[in-house]
Amino acid sequence: MKLHVEAQIMSPVAMTVRRATGNDVDTLEWIPGTAVRGAMAAWYGRQTGRELGDAAFQRLFVSGGVRFGCLRPAGADFWPLSARLCKDNRDEHAVMDRLLRVAAGVDCAETCHDLSNGNQCGAKLEVALGFTRKVRRRTGGQAFQTEAVRTRRITHSAIDRKLLKTRSGQLFSVRSIEQGQKFHGYITVADGLMDEIKQLWPEDKDLSLRLGRARSRGQGEVQLRWSEARADEVNIQVRVEEMQNKAAQLRERLTGKVVVSVTLQAPAIVRDDYLLFKTWLGPADVGLKEGWELLSWFSRPTLIGGWHEAAQVPRSEASGIAAGSCFLFGCEQDRTMIAQMAAWGEQLEASGIGERRIEGFGEVRCCHEIHAECAERL
Ligand SMILES: [Zn+2]
Repeated sequence: MKLHVEAQIMSPVAMTVRRATGNDVDTLEWIPGTAVRGAMAAWYGRQTGRELGDAAFQRLFVSGGVRFGCLRPAGADFWPLSARLCKDNRDEHAVMDRLLRVAAGVDCAETCHDLSNGNQCGAKLEVALGFTRKVRRRTGGQAFQTEAVRTRRITHSAIDRKLLKTRSGQLFSVRSIEQGQKFHGYITVADGLMDEIKQLWPEDKDLSLRLGRARSRGQGEVQLRWSEARADEVNIQVRVEEMQNKAAQLRERLTGKVVVSVTLQAPAIVRDDYLLFKTWLGPADVGLKEGWELLSWFSRPTLIGGWHEAAQVPRSEASGIAAGSCFLFGCEQDRTMIAQMAAWGEQLEASGIGERRIEGFGEVRCCHEIHAECAERL
């Protein structure tokens, strides 16, 4: 069962990926599933008074029966790394997505092609970063725009007790996610465990957790509540079909091919046959059989660290593929494959990819509508 989780930020939250070193600490603008899982495990211990590691704890936090997804700004997805925005008018000018176009083997535009002012805009393009959400535009219609996360910087200094003045060189600053914002994500629960979850944490009941840094100074308070997840707004079958329509329009190398895409909505940790970390995905990594090939991709590596609470040591760093990375796969097939590919997409979105999935890594969206809807055309 898939639970929709809404998190209300009650006090500034600083989510750091690595142990802080130096005087300046930055935050992620989303909440990793691994932090949610850790905080919930600690809460479970306090709530039940049971020893951590008992059979119920194993079922809920270790065995893989419950998957804790990462939390993103409400209603938003990571911008795919293939999306380009107009540098002069990020919100109003058309988004250009290059995933399909690169696969077709056609040159990409170097400047904005928006025609809303009568003639071509011509401004430079830039990579879209952060989050995107479909909103109503001022000029009409709906479009993908950047969803900003509000952050604040909190600075403090150290006081010398003898002299009662600030110690020189002891100025610390932490950027944090501002309070009052809502984040959302999913927790996936295996069928047999739902009753246990409901007993611990009833539906529509707020669960107060502390996440991230500076918790002892009142930061990091987040209230979580869950409800049953609703069906996806844009059905996977529709998304797969739209992608085929766009691919057919672009022709060139996409002629006669069925294509599907995988876009990461959380970092993924994937290894090859030699156990080395991969920075890209092949067909086998996403459950595609023989005949499929990787046609185009936009990806970026990211380092994944963490703190091992029980052992009080840093976890060894893993190299992952950053959220927003996207991959297009193609196969010489006719369109009778569409129903089959929709089933594949549904299954992959439910299972995720790579390692440490119960901590929210490897969450994907198959055939993300943005790749077809915003595909850069001729
Ligand atoms: Zn423009």
